[in-house]
Amino acid sequence: MSMARTLRKLVLGVILDLDGTLLNTDGIVNDILKVHLVKYGKQWDARNAHRIAGKTPLEAAAAVVEDYELPMSPDVFLAEITPTFSEQWCNIKAQPGANRLINHLRGHGVPMALASNSPLENVETKIFYHQGWKESFSAIIGGDEVTNGKPSPDIFLEAARRLNIDPSSCLVIEDSLPGITAGKAAGMNVVAVPSIPKHSHLYTSADEVINSLLDLQLEKWSLPAFQDWVEGTLPINPWHIGGPVIKGFGRGSKVLGIPTANISTEGYLDLLSEHPSGVYHGWAGLPTRGVFKMVMSIGWNPYFNNAEKTIEPWLLHDFTEDFYGQFSIS
Ligand code: ADP
Ligand code: MG
Repeated sequence: MSMARTLRKLVLGVILDLDGTLLNTDGIVNDILKVHLVKYGKQWDARNAHRIAGKTPLEAAAAVVEDYELPMSPDVFLAEITPTFSEQWCNIKAQPGANRLINHLRGHGVPMALASNSPLENVETKIFYHQGWKESFSAIIGGDEVTNGKPSPDIFLEAARRLNIDPSSCLVIEDSLPGITAGKAAGMNVVAVPSIPKHSHLYTSADEVINSLLDLQLEKWSLPAFQDWVEGTLPINPWHIGGPVIKGFGRGSKVLGIPTANISTEGYLDLLSEHPSGVYHGWAGLPTRGVFKMVMSIGWNPYFNNAEKTIEPWLLHDFTEDFYGQFSIS
């Protein structure tokens, strides 16, 4: 156990960011910008999502106008896309583990605040679609309620003030770099949950970087621990996917001794964005061979540096030959 950890103050309240942290906003943002930029003959590159993450709407619009050399000012561009965004707010899904976290903290009476760079009105509309959220927060602060948005610490200091908790006793949970900078500048404990893949190495100023909200270990912050882990595994609702086994990279078996029967991600992009990368386990059925136990990696394989998320089940069975037919797993 490190000195830093033992010297940490008791955490008495949790301050949460909204977009990218509690809500999976990135999917909607990507979809809208993709369609919108086509009008100007430009192609949205999802790899630029980090340019807008955590920014105020106007700053994000300015970054897009600059990156894609759009023939207009940021405020004109913002006004143009705002109606499309408002229509989509009802479709933004909660991030994996968001409801679990909110219910757990509320159940234990831990004070919570929501601090977003979005204007308060937008924040309230977005959380309206998520049952039990609004009532769970003792304070909700929009970016328009402080002079400077994140990365300035203003919004988090205001949240601490409204919770009546010393900043050093607050835990901030954030997905974006501006948010992490703001939390540290406010003198708070900060856990980063990067919403953009493969950017974790940029989050060095956070006290901890985790893969998804499901991986939060609240006891590290002297908060009540989650009780739903079973021997190092977190039970989740089962999900079912299937499809033909596709050619993978031909390297798992050769380099690692673990062949994986890759499944096409086509048709599963939404499902993949709703599930954190990680190792899952369950069952795999092959029509002619039967049902087998399997473990499955979902994600950007850190070892092989994949460009896209892959679905790679490894069946716990010795097969004499490869199989590439239909396949279903749950
Ligand atoms: P790799 O996974 O080695 O990177 P591929 O995905 O192209 O390469 O091919 C691996 C193939 O190995 C799978 O498509 C499947 O047909 C075969 N295979 C053999 N045994 C297993 C097993 N136990 N689990 C998963 N796939 C297996
Ligand atoms: Mg494979």
